Amino acid sequence: MKRLAVCGSTGSIGVHTLDVVSRNRARYELFALTAHSDVDGLAAQCRRWRPRIAVMSSESAAGRLAAILAEEIPEIEVLAGASGLTQVAMHPEVDYVMAAIVGAAGLMSSLAAARAGKRVLLANKEALVMSGRLFMDAVRDGGAELLPIDSEHNAIFQCLPRAHSGPVESGVRRVLLTGSGGPFRARDPESLHDVTPTDACAHPNWSMGRKISVDSATMMNKGLEVIEACWLFDMEPESVEVIVHPQSVIHSMVEYEDGTVLAQLGNPDMRTPIAHALAWPDRIDSGVAPLDLVGMSRLDFEAPDFDRFPCLRLGFEAARAGGTAPAALNAANEVAVDAFLNGRLRFTRIARIAEATVAACSGEEPRTLDDVLDLDRLARIRAAEFIKTFSD
Ligand code: NDP
Repeated sequence: MKRLAVCGSTGSIGVHTLDVVSRNRARYELFALTAHSDVDGLAAQCRRWRPRIAVMSSESAAGRLAAILAEEIPEIEVLAGASGLTQVAMHPEVDYVMAAIVGAAGLMSSLAAARAGKRVLLANKEALVMSGRLFMDAVRDGGAELLPIDSEHNAIFQCLPRAHSGPVESGVRRVLLTGSGGPFRARDPESLHDVTPTDACAHPNWSMGRKISVDSATMMNKGLEVIEACWLFDMEPESVEVIVHPQSVIHSMVEYEDGTVLAQLGNPDMRTPIAHALAWPDRIDSGVAPLDLVGMSRLDFEAPDFDRFPCLRLGFEAARAGGTAPAALNAANEVAVDAFLNGRLRFTRIARIAEATVAACSGEEPRTLDDVLDLDRLARIRAAEFIKTFSD
């Protein structure tokens, strides 16, 4: 029986994780659940799952959850704030940590889990993008097991040899990251000026949280995934290729020196990578329907259009530039996406804010956690300034 902390349990990945656990209750105990402000959502999960600890990272929300649980389930301990998140991520009784908080807010708990030597199921790609070296060093020094949840990286993980000794030694020539192209793959770029958050969040294949849905629509998500892949698999950006694959059935591929290309296929449902990472190296039921190859009949592939999707270009550029670029890109994107979702910025301005912020924050790679956090703060300030300048 493995004890699991689900950081971000009320979100899309969190809910999918609980669904997989519900099918495998003999293997996993939910030790801790966390949310930010969704008190009713976390209270409902506590009623169903009876975790030992519940964390609300918003202090005011924690008070409300504590009041509800004190009446109904007083044995559940309620923790508050960022320190509560870190506490459960490194708790000695926790074996596995699902890192499914969205954005930079997930950095501290993801890092704490790595340093404490947990099995880290990493959905929170932003943590890796903003502090790649620090994070990978923490995994190594803490003796953690890092299992990618992003479907593309999980697919690559599955297509690499079991004892992956580095790309050169393993004969890996390239990794091929697939992406659906999002809801605007075939739209006239001129028409993107007026798209609404509802349009941008209507992903054709995947059901996800709002931030990553917008990232998929701009293809910033794929750009961040390029950076993520470089850190996770010790690859150079030149060895990572993005291929648009509208059906989202092939989740990514690895090409070897001898011409072999290994692909991982499945229905587009995040429960597959979640179940894989939970059970690895075993396999468990995920609840995902079998893939109907005959019914599907065709798989399409296209080269990405970097003019239509400048955010993808920015992701590659940041991966190549290193230094402050990835963290600045991530912070600027979070600020710009938030502004778009709240009606303060046009969709087509997101890339411009990100590009201007990266240029304004250029410098050497942050080496310490304080450096990363300082850079993140600075980039957010710059991005907010650019939003005022560029809004129309
Ligand atoms: P959601 O927005 O659906 O959920 C986010 C979760 O994080 C919620 O539990 C939310 O709590 C919590 N949260 C939000 N803000 C904070 C904060 N400031 N401090 C602490 N917790 C916070 O996101 P997703 O599940 O879609 O994505 C989670 C992560 O997984 C992201 O990094 C994303 O890139 C990655 N990912 C997601 C995929 C998907 O299919 N959804 C696919 C691949 C990767 P509350 O509900 O209270 O707001």
